[in-house]
Amino acid sequence: RLSQRLQSVADFVSKGARVADIGSDHAYLPAYLVQEGTIDFAVAGEVVEGPFNIAKNHINDINLHNKIDVRLANGLAAIEKDDQIDNIVIAGMGGILISEILGADIKKLKQVKRLILQPNNHEDTLRQWLDNQGFKIVDEKILLEAGKFYEIIVAESTDCFTENSVSTDGRLSVKELIFGPKLLLEKSDIFCKKWEKERDTLNKILKRLPEEQVIKRVELQEQKQKIEEILK
Ligand code: SAM
Repeated sequence: RLSQRLQSVADFVSKGARVADIGSDHAYLPAYLVQEGTIDFAVAGEVVEGPFNIAKNHINDINLHNKIDVRLANGLAAIEKDDQIDNIVIAGMGGILISEILGADIKKLKQVKRLILQPNNHEDTLRQWLDNQGFKIVDEKILLEAGKFYEIIVAESTDCFTENSVSTDGRLSVKELIFGPKLLLEKSDIFCKKWEKERDTLNKILKRLPEEQVIKRVELQEQKQKIEEILK
């Protein structure tokens, strides 16, 4: 069984998709998707030899090596043209690293319909990157597992949309970058919990920060204000 976090990531994979799971570690995600019958082809990319070997052995042991190709590769280098990958999953890494991995090989994203991303932090940087590259955030989810908040961002290339379905509002606002356009609309209990916690942390930092640190104080106050506005 997958963790709640990986299960939620798996739920966003399109039925029948050809999936690349980049930074797959044990390859639990593609194994689950094939076993459930959601997909029947995946590439599991992993840059570190230890987890790559474990993943390879695991996939052989469960006899899925005909459907899941485990590859030792850096980022999108795991994907080859003939794979016809249309869904890419990158989960459990920092948001900056995820955008660097995507940006390092941008041509490979041309054929890809859907990106399912689960950054552990810097979600705003990743949303900004997606927005700049013409990806539209079509879905998001926030969850709390073992005391940690996780956000999942699902993006699709705007090239995939017909002219009529392209939203005319275009670029994301600063608020949408920070809080997530879909999460902001939904404002779930978990979402509020995350940002209440963040606000409390900012309050604690502000209490300890000397009055002379004017610039830093203003910056933190502004962050706090943004949070308070959306929690209203
Ligand atoms: N995706 C799994 C999950 O969400 O549970 C594993 C997450 S694990 C914390 C991150 C994995 O990404 C590690 O196994 C790491 O070696 C791998 N990784 C980091 N940078 C990578 C890169 N540039 N290319 C491929 N894999 C990478």
